[in-house]
Amino acid sequence: MEKQKILIVDDEEVSREMLKNLLEAEYECVTAENGRKAMEWMESHQDEIEVVLTDLVMPVMDGFELLDYIADRYQESPPPIIVITAYNEQDLVQKALLHGASEVVIKPYEPAVVKKRIENVIALNETRSVHNVMEDIIREEIDKNIDALGICQCPVCRKDLLTLALNKVQPKYVTSWKGALLTKMDNSFDSTSQIQLIAEITHCAEMVKQRPRHSVEN
Ligand SMILES: [Zn+2]
Repeated sequence: MEKQKILIVDDEEVSREMLKNLLEAEYECVTAENGRKAMEWMESHQDEIEVVLTDLVMPVMDGFELLDYIADRYQESPPPIIVITAYNEQDLVQKALLHGASEVVIKPYEPAVVKKRIENVIALNETRSVHNVMEDIIREEIDKNIDALGICQCPVCRKDLLTLALNKVQPKYVTSWKGALLTKMDNSFDSTSQIQLIAEITHCAEMVKQRPRHSVEN
């Protein structure tokens, strides 16, 4: 069986080699030294990539530009992107998630964790019928409390709040078929967890308020 391809993007050769050594027994690893090189490679191998592992801070073309390129190029079905970043770049983590990253790994990383994250994003990407009901729950809470949250109510800000809040909570997956949920969600979502959820959403709303992206994108 042909190995699945992973694209590793990092300007530091040592980091690229470390990831390659870690993964090459299970995957075919393609490496690129910056976003532009990765983009050029993807242009001619569009459908071959299973997962992209990328650094954020790189010369020539950074990880955010690469995330934007992938979102734009693949539209409906982008490959999952795992961002690898330093522990002191928490600010960048948030931005990376908003630009479409699926997962974040903080350096120095545990090799087993990186492998597991890769397996997870591949599995999730293959099972498109899997739906995270937390997304519905959070969207509903945001809609209900939109005035109290005090964020701008434009689509960009609403979506950013949803993305940030989703990252804060444990996902609850159910299988769905043609939009209909097959597994009924249990009613274990009690009032304590609802209060915690609202606290998380409120916290995330502060971040959206501080740095609304509509003004950047318009
Ligand atoms: Zn807005």
